[in-house]
Amino acid sequence: PLVVGFETSCDETGVGVVRGRTLLADALATSVAEHERFGGVVPEIASRAHLEAMVPTVHRALAEAGVAASDVDAVAVTAGPGLTGALLVGLAAAKAYALALDVPLYGVNHLAAHVAVDELQHGRLAEPSLALLVSGGHSSLLLVPDLSREVTSLGRTVDDAAGEAFDKVARVLGLPFPGGPPIDRAAREGDPSAIAFPRGLTGPRDAPYDFSFSGLKTAVARWVEARQRAGEPVPVADVAASFQEAVADVLTAKAVRACRDHGVDHLVLGGGVAANSRLRALAEERCAAAGIVLRVPRPGLCTDNGAMVAALGSRLAEAGVEPSAPDLGADSSLPIDVVTP
Ligand code: ATP
Ligand code: MG
Ligand code: FE
Repeated sequence: PLVVGFETSCDETGVGVVRGRTLLADALATSVAEHERFGGVVPEIASRAHLEAMVPTVHRALAEAGVAASDVDAVAVTAGPGLTGALLVGLAAAKAYALALDVPLYGVNHLAAHVAVDELQHGRLAEPSLALLVSGGHSSLLLVPDLSREVTSLGRTVDDAAGEAFDKVARVLGLPFPGGPPIDRAAREGDPSAIAFPRGLTGPRDAPYDFSFSGLKTAVARWVEARQRAGEPVPVADVAASFQEAVADVLTAKAVRACRDHGVDHLVLGGGVAANSRLRALAEERCAAAGIVLRVPRPGLCTDNGAMVAALGSRLAEAGVEPSAPDLGADSSLPIDVVTP
């Protein structure tokens, strides 16, 4: 089916077009620059920006895909989790679109969509797969027996999300927001073993699949402050590389362990932090050693976009899943196990 997907859960206005598992267009507008001076996404600013960007972004997506609105078979939209006001803009647009074209509407879970997007690049997901979902607001290990119907959480962060830790550490280091990309770049010049930062929740009695990044973030901040107090220069590249190594180490170790414990030999990465070059390299190395088939979408598909929503919508339509009711609402804390509300 030809599916248009709408994504507005955070600061990206995304409209994607897919036919089956073929990506036809992925139009994106972002309000990231407007949030930079606040050091985080401001919900009211994001909502207004979505409103302004929505119509031009839809037009751009259809033009890029080379399709007419009348060709569209179904509409998909992120129903949650995310910022309520931001979600509502995408929902209003998607509902209006589905109604006007008289096609089914699929509300989708943003987190499941982060996993589904990989099918646009690497084809049908093996099921069951394990998914490591790491983004600005979430860090979870998911068991995915059927991405259209059944996703279960094995573990999650007990405090900060991995992306949040990148953003906070970047701030401490004086790097711009969002912090993932500049830390990734700075780390290339640094030594990942320069500083031994803590690996949270990796003790023998700790929950095997849960994550904790707040202790790591604090450890980095303390280390940097101590340097500054002593009047010594902060080795930004070494701190970035050592911090990034600690995150990648824990994430990949736990993902591989979860695969082994559950007898699953396919792992897929998703979410903005999956764009991280060290996480990708270490996951590749450890999966190869453990005999696990690893799939990682290209960086542009890892961060928020409309194509991921269209990808999940297309899958739901193909699987014969019941479309959403016309009164579909936004759910800012939609649980991960609800693929389509
Ligand atoms: P969620 O999906 O939880 O609602 P989100 O929608 O804000 O969160 P995504 O676009 O999926 O987020 O991810 C954004 C996060 O990814 C930010 O925290 C950003 O710093 C991080 N990120 C992006 N690129 C990289 C990178 N190369 N290395 C590490 N982190 C990165
Ligand atoms: Mg974003
Ligand atoms: Fe996201």
